[in-house]
Amino acid sequence: MELLKNKVAVVTGGTRGIGFAIVKTYLQNGAKVAVFGSRQETVEKALAKLREENPAWDVTGGWPDLGQYAQVEAALAEVKAHYGRIDILVNNAGISGRESLYTYDPAAFEKTMALNVNAVFYSCRAVAPIMKEQGGGVILNTSSMVSMYGQPSGVAYPASKSAINGLTRSLARELGKDHIRVNAVAPGITRTDMLAALPQELVDRISAGIPLGRVGEPQDLANAFLFLASDLASYITGDVLHVDGAAMT
Ligand code: NAD
Repeated sequence: MELLKNKVAVVTGGTRGIGFAIVKTYLQNGAKVAVFGSRQETVEKALAKLREENPAWDVTGGWPDLGQYAQVEAALAEVKAHYGRIDILVNNAGISGRESLYTYDPAAFEKTMALNVNAVFYSCRAVAPIMKEQGGGVILNTSSMVSMYGQPSGVAYPASKSAINGLTRSLARELGKDHIRVNAVAPGITRTDMLAALPQELVDRISAGIPLGRVGEPQDLANAFLFLASDLASYITGDVLHVDGAAMT
C-alpha cells in the first residue's frame, strides 16, 4: 500500500541516518521527495544512491543554510514551484553534543540551538503559508527521548529538544484550523553517526536498560514518520511520539 501516493515531502538532513531512511520510506510509499542537506556534495551523493536503487523515484535536492531564514524560504519556494505543493515537511536535521557546563563554549550552545530550534522555526514559518493556501499539510519535527529525561552533559541538546516539544504542541494548536497537523517523533538511541559520537559507556548503559533489548534502527524511526505523515494519522496532532523501546536514561 502506498501511504503517501502523490504527496510532496521535504526532509531536512535527509542525506544520511534517520533522515535518509525517511526519504527512502517516503519514496517507497509513492511520495515525491526533496532532500535537504548541508552540502551539495552529500545531497548529490544521496540522490545518486536513491536513483540507482529506483530510477522511477521522483527525488530532488537542495542545500540551503538552515540557519538563514531567507535561504530556507527560498529553498521551500523552489520545491513548491517544482512540484506545485508541499504536503509534508520533516524537520530532521540536528546536532548533539556532550560538553561539560564548566568548559562549555557559549558559541557551541548557540550553534546547537540555531540548528535544532531556530532552523525548525524558520522552516515552519516558511512552509505554513504554502500549506494553508493549498488547504492543509503535515509538519513533523524531530525531538529526542532526552527531551523528557535530560542528559548528564551537553545541556544544549536536551534543551533544544524540549523546545521542539513545546513548538510542536503550540503550532498544532495554532495551525489546526488551517488543517495543518504538527507532530514530533522522539527517537531513543538509534544506530546512526550520532550514536558513534556518544561515549561507549553511556551507550552500553542505556542499551542494557532498554526493555526491547536493542537500540533503534533508522527504519524503526522512518516507520513512525511514515505513519504520522499519512492519512492514517488524520486525527493526531500536537503529539510527541516516543520511538525508543521504552528506554529511559
Ligand atoms: P546524523 O548525524 O546521522 O544526521 C544528521 C543529519 O542532519 C545529516 O543529514 C546532516 O547532514 C544534517 N545536518 C547536520 N548539521 C546540519 C546543518 N548545519 N545544516 C543542515 N543539515 C545538517 O543524525 P541522526 O541520528 O540521523 O539524527 C537525525 C535526527 O534525529 C536529529 O534531529 C537528532 O537530534 C535526532 N535524534 C537522533 C538520535 C540517535 O540516537 N541517532 C536520538 C534522538 C534524536
